[in-house]
Amino acid sequence: MDRMILIKYGELSTKKGNKNFFIKTLYNNVKNKLKNFDVKINKDSARMYIEFRDEELDDIKRVIDKIFGIHMYHIAYIVDTNIDDIKKMTLDVIKNFNFKSFKVETKRSFKQFPTDSLETSRIIGGYILKNINDISVDVHNPDLLIKIEIRDNNSFIYLNEYCGSGGYPVGTQPKGFLMLSGGIDSPVAGYLAMKRGVSLEAVYFEAIPHTSLEARNKVIDLTRKLTEYVDSINLHIVNFTSIQEAIYKNCREDYCITIMRRMMYRIMERLVKERGGYVIINGESIGQVASQTLVSMSVINEVTNVPVIRPVACLDKLEIIDISKKIGTYEISILPFEDCCTVFVPKHPVINPNSQVAKFEENKFDYMSMIDEAIKNLYTVKVKCEEKTNFSELL
Ligand code: ATP
Ligand code: MG
Repeated sequence: MDRMILIKYGELSTKKGNKNFFIKTLYNNVKNKLKNFDVKINKDSARMYIEFRDEELDDIKRVIDKIFGIHMYHIAYIVDTNIDDIKKMTLDVIKNFNFKSFKVETKRSFKQFPTDSLETSRIIGGYILKNINDISVDVHNPDLLIKIEIRDNNSFIYLNEYCGSGGYPVGTQPKGFLMLSGGIDSPVAGYLAMKRGVSLEAVYFEAIPHTSLEARNKVIDLTRKLTEYVDSINLHIVNFTSIQEAIYKNCREDYCITIMRRMMYRIMERLVKERGGYVIINGESIGQVASQTLVSMSVINEVTNVPVIRPVACLDKLEIIDISKKIGTYEISILPFEDCCTVFVPKHPVINPNSQVAKFEENKFDYMSMIDEAIKNLYTVKVKCEEKTNFSELL
């Protein structure tokens, strides 16, 4: 019996005008992620169909579970669209199951099929009752729900449904630049932005020798974890040492974090504009630390007009941790290496900074030329998804 993976689009099929673009992006993403498997992928406006080899199914499911834009899928048996074949195949599919009650649900998108959905369900149900003893139909709470989809050439029979990760296909939105530290929040912010279809580039500010190479490797590992949802992510590493030292040498101690973050935002704005992005994304969460009070956020944010998306702004830390555990970044994030925010923490950072004071303090040194220098010296690592997708090769 031949089977196929039947993908339902869900939320993206509500995007009327853009539907084809969404489906095409999803198709390309699926094709790309399954390139190491022996599969054949087809699509129409309602479904995507993947032919696969049985021994690769579990591995393919693992990959599909991380492709955004897939809300539901089924492993379906394929049969020619005629009632005799459908009846027989349905019986073959279910006869090894142990059940006392069942229900047949038919969806008929091929309107030329001679019987309507209800009638078709009735015919198939009757055939099952005639061929299997001691079972009955239960339309409310059946042991076995048999779904039939009647389409023009092929029809499908399935008993299962698997949830995909939802969201929109990555690439249906243009690029956003993620401020990625080694902490718990920012990888979660990146994951949530990708889930809405945003293509990511990541930016890490480091202050060697105050921060270590281990801290950098940790950020590379976090980026790699995020590539499980895409093909690759460019990680831009900014040398922030001289800016950070200048801040601590010249500025009022309680304003150091406010000013440091204004500098980060200025650099982010430059990168977004120079590299064709549209938004800055970060892991700020309202009230979490002094620099994330609403007053701090507004004083920090005033240095740029580029929109700043804060996907975890309104989540509790425990909710963020739950997501980070689910996506596997938590274990990496809690490794002890410090990033540049944690090495220069003032004793009493200002909670309600004043914009004029921040400007006055930061104008004590020539930060523009330092920002130019940092951008000139930036280097980029293309982090690729290393997951061995063709698991069967290992056998
Ligand atoms: P995280 O928020 O990732 O858990 P954190 O809480 O230590 O780390 P904060 O000091 O709260 O980081 O900074 C808020 C946000 O600013 C981070 O979520 C991240 O988006 C960004 N950020 C902070 N430090 C860096 C850095 N060194 N490089 C890039 N982005 C950073
Ligand atoms: Mg944080």
